[in-house]
Amino acid sequence: MIKSFNISKMGYNISYIQQLTDYIKKRVTDHEDGVKYKLKNEFFRDVLVFICKRANKIINDQNKLFREASDPAIYVKKKRKEYYSIFQKCCNGATSAAIWGHIICQKLKEPIEQSVYKKTARDLTDEMRSNCESLNGNRSNLEKHILKKLAEEEDFDKYMNYIYNPRDHFKSFIRDEVSQYITDKFSVSVLPKVEENIELLQQKIIKAANESTEHVQVNREDAGLWLKSFTQQLSDELIFSEKDLSGVNHDDVHDFNLLQDVIKKELVHIMHDIRSEFNTETFLLKLDYKFRPDELLIDHFCQCCWVQCVFCGATCTNAIENHVGDHSVDFHRVRGIIGANYYLTQNLCADICTNVVASDLHFYIQDEWFKYREYRRAGGVYAQWSITPDVSELPHWKWFVCRFQKNLEKYYNKTFEDSGKIPDEWRKYSKQEAIMSLNEFF
Ligand SMILES: [Zn+2]
Ligand SMILES: [Zn+2]
Repeated sequence: MIKSFNISKMGYNISYIQQLTDYIKKRVTDHEDGVKYKLKNEFFRDVLVFICKRANKIINDQNKLFREASDPAIYVKKKRKEYYSIFQKCCNGATSAAIWGHIICQKLKEPIEQSVYKKTARDLTDEMRSNCESLNGNRSNLEKHILKKLAEEEDFDKYMNYIYNPRDHFKSFIRDEVSQYITDKFSVSVLPKVEENIELLQQKIIKAANESTEHVQVNREDAGLWLKSFTQQLSDELIFSEKDLSGVNHDDVHDFNLLQDVIKKELVHIMHDIRSEFNTETFLLKLDYKFRPDELLIDHFCQCCWVQCVFCGATCTNAIENHVGDHSVDFHRVRGIIGANYYLTQNLCADICTNVVASDLHFYIQDEWFKYREYRRAGGVYAQWSITPDVSELPHWKWFVCRFQKNLEKYYNKTFEDSGKIPDEWRKYSKQEAIMSLNEFF
């Protein structure tokens, strides 16, 4: 959520803390709905302070970037150096063309940097979509990797986060994968891409300068025309227009060959600076939020249906958000995982949706009994799911229930006993088998 504020571009706003507070409050209240205890106000306050402290660095770093770009005092200070170098050049007898070329290059630096960063981010995203095991397939494949990682780490809290907030969990998994990939492949893949994109852009800019020079020499020698031609040729690559140079007088620029030579030379320095300022941190910080590789991948993977099964919490696998037709999922889970218990008992359900819909069991909802066989008759969300009887289950969830039986019992204050006794054959699955089973079924 903090990242989506895009503070480096939009600046810090006092209302963000209010938005965070509301969000956290809602999550705490949502949590309270499912449990039998009440959380004190102090708890909420502590959670809030903890989160804000942890986010402090991100907010500060991003705000610093924003200030550097927008604070008039900092801006003027930066300009001082810029103007001084122009002044120096004038004193040394540089011609108008040379000075104008110099100014154009200074104005080009930031658009070049953004363009290189953006293009690199896109190339990296494409590369991850084909090279990164978890990201090279569809959402089911991604989910398989998420489940594998959860099983490998054996962290109950992470599992619960995945079960109750699947979308958040997907997002943070993608962010972790991307940042891991960028760190691992920085010198072998990220840097070469930056180099390549810098090189390509440099050639394009030089070509645009050459062609603009030819253009004005054939027509009439006018710097305004030169600039128009130059910016138009780069309009697909750079966010840069004639307006960026408004107020810079170019009436006495006539030597266009010199102008193009100056640009060619100065570009080398600019590209060198961009290259040397590039690192893992600046890459993600300076890059506009919506072009970050993790955001592109989140867009790709997370715009889909997230409705969870009413009986077990498994997420619908339909690739379209708000799709028509029934929700469905290949593998339902053990119902006790979301705290489902048998009527009038404290026994967690040790069965799976696809089995119960074939059984003679009933469920009780709004003062009425319904057969699981005819669950759709309960109407509402029940009628929107297609759950077909099936015996092919994912050993993964059976292993999970056995492995975390105590945690689940404590979490829900209910037990897998009597009617909810875990079948003995579930206990035979090892962690390795649980992980392997994911390979087989997805
Ligand atoms: Zn289910
Ligand atoms: Zn759905």
